[in-house]
Amino acid sequence: MFVWGSGFWVKIFREKGSGVMKQTEKIDYLQTNFMGEWLKTRQQVEDKLSSQNHVFCYCGRLATGLHERTCRKFHKVVNSKAVEYLKHFLEKEVLK
Ligand SMILES: [Zn+2]
Repeated sequence: MFVWGSGFWVKIFREKGSGVMKQTEKIDYLQTNFMGEWLKTRQQVEDKLSSQNHVFCYCGRLATGLHERTCRKFHKVVNSKAVEYLKHFLEKEVLK
């Protein structure tokens, strides 16, 4: 695996508009361009996942409301689900 060159190729790939975006870039994009939808969806996903977490959080700790608010793993799952729900906004951008 040519780790040393991967950043370079990813950059070229992206400049060609192939739509290869990192998770953080997707979130940035959604936050910048669709702030209202992003916040609304994210909140809905958070509520849904939180109600599914009966006893334990994704990280294995007790799923209290206080814990979930500060848990990185929980927020990571929430973010990735929210990105999935808003995928159509990203695809629109890719098709430009
Ligand atoms: Zn947790």
